[in-house]
Amino acid sequence: MSNGLPSVVVVGCGFGGLEAVRALSKAPVESTLVDRTNRHLFQPLLHQVTTAGLSAPAVSATIRHVLRREMKRGNLTILQAEAIGFDVANRRVLLDADQSLTYDHLVVAAGATHSYFGHDDWAAHAPGLKTLTDAFAIRARVIGAFEQAERCTDEAPREPWLTFVVIGAGPTGVEMAGTMAEIAQHTLLQEFRRIDPTKARVVLLEASDRVLGSFVPASSQRARERLVKLGVEVRTGCKVTGIDADDLTYECHQTAEIRRPPPG
Ligand SMILES: Cc1cc2nc3c(=O)[nH]c(=O)nc-3n(C[C@H](O)[C@H](O)[C@H](O)COP(=O)(O)OP(=O)(O)OC[C@H]3O[C@@H](n4cnc5c(N)ncnc54)[C@H](O)[C@@H]3O)c2cc1C
Repeated sequence: MSNGLPSVVVVGCGFGGLEAVRALSKAPVESTLVDRTNRHLFQPLLHQVTTAGLSAPAVSATIRHVLRREMKRGNLTILQAEAIGFDVANRRVLLDADQSLTYDHLVVAAGATHSYFGHDDWAAHAPGLKTLTDAFAIRARVIGAFEQAERCTDEAPREPWLTFVVIGAGPTGVEMAGTMAEIAQHTLLQEFRRIDPTKARVVLLEASDRVLGSFVPASSQRARERLVKLGVEVRTGCKVTGIDADDLTYECHQTAEIRRPPPG
């Protein structure tokens, strides 16, 4: 108890933590919000940052700004700190720098991370997309690849620079592949001299037999058609088996492939 009120510690200020804190600010409790960053991130638009379609401030804002109304109610403390463990028996959240917080009630809303399904060594070559840092890293690689292609004086070495593979056709992969095709086909059109950005290949690989597998089949089909129209090569039934700095290998269990239609 703090000030006679029950204390609540909320770990994480994504959508989950934010909603919890907003609701708790109207309750007779003393809340402490802990996040390792000082920014709330709108993940659904993160893929646009990877292709420079949006800047960081368009998808993130400081937690203190987002929660300024709740702060006025006087029962919320915001701390930028990393939760490194929980001492449940003694109701304590262990923080970095040897600090801790006691609580009467605990909300853990620390989000999820991507998985390499047992192939953690792929991380160096194929970063995930969950944070602004991830988005900037991918952006540097994508834009950097077009720049490297422009530096090539022959056609052959350009091709690998202009081949982009997105693995996994869930919502993030579908959005990512679509956005990459859009920048190649439209955004970068006038920006290079030696290369034609529209010649870039965007390949979307998915192990199951359809894109957006958690959606109804009609939506999967529509998404697939839209991707193909944007110029994405959609390959379902294809499971990635290896990634290194130069190559990606995959096994196909299904012969059907949709390829980029000819221009026009
Ligand atoms: C590219 C992309 C596109 C998406 N598109 C959509 C969409 O169109 N529609 C949709 O509904 N969903 C979409 N999602 C999913 C949706 O964004 C997530 O489900 C949602 O953001 C999860 O919210 P959360 O609060 O659980 O976690 P998160 O938003 O991940 O927040 C977790 C927070 O916890 C903090 N944290 C983590 N560990 C610690 C720690 N140890 N100590 C302190 N703080 C910590 C993090 O800094 C972060 O602020 C998308 C996700 C991505 C990545």
